[in-house]
Amino acid sequence: MLSIPHALTGAFVANQIPIPAVYIPTAFAFHYLQDWIPHWDFGTGLSTGRRKKSTAILLEIGELIITFGLIYFVFQRGQTEVQYHIWLGGLMGIMPDLIESPRNFLGWEPAFLKPLNQFHGMFHNSTHHKVIGLLPQVITVGVILFLVKFT
Ligand SMILES: [Zn+2]
Repeated sequence: MLSIPHALTGAFVANQIPIPAVYIPTAFAFHYLQDWIPHWDFGTGLSTGRRKKSTAILLEIGELIITFGLIYFVFQRGQTEVQYHIWLGGLMGIMPDLIESPRNFLGWEPAFLKPLNQFHGMFHNSTHHKVIGLLPQVITVGVILFLVKFT
C-alpha cells in the first residue's frame, strides 16, 4: 500500500493506545494485513519493469512529504508538545517498506534484512488496476479521519 494509509494507521494506533509495547507491534501487524489486501502503489510495476526506479523514488519522496503533513494536521496540530508516540507509530507503520527500500531501489539487501523482506513479501498483493488498488486505501484513510474526528 501507499505510505499514507500505512503511516496514518500506525499513528492512529499510537494515538489510541500510547504504549510502545502495544502500538509498535500493532502498527507492524497492520502493515502486513494492509499489504495482504490487493493494492496499487508507487512500487507496483517495479519488479516487472512497468515502472522505472527513478520515477518510483520521486513519487515516494513526494508521498512521504504529504504523509508527514497529514500526520501533522491530523494528530500533531494544536498540541503544545511534540507527540513522539504518534510520529513513532507512523514510522512503524511504514517500517517494513523502509526496510525493503534499499533492496528495491539500490539492489542492496543486507543478509540480516532478508528474512524480514521475505516475510513482508509473503503478504504482498499488488494489482495494476488503480481503482481496485486504491479503493481500500481511500477507505482506510477515510475511516481513520472519521474515527479521529468523532471518537
Ligand atoms: Zn509493505
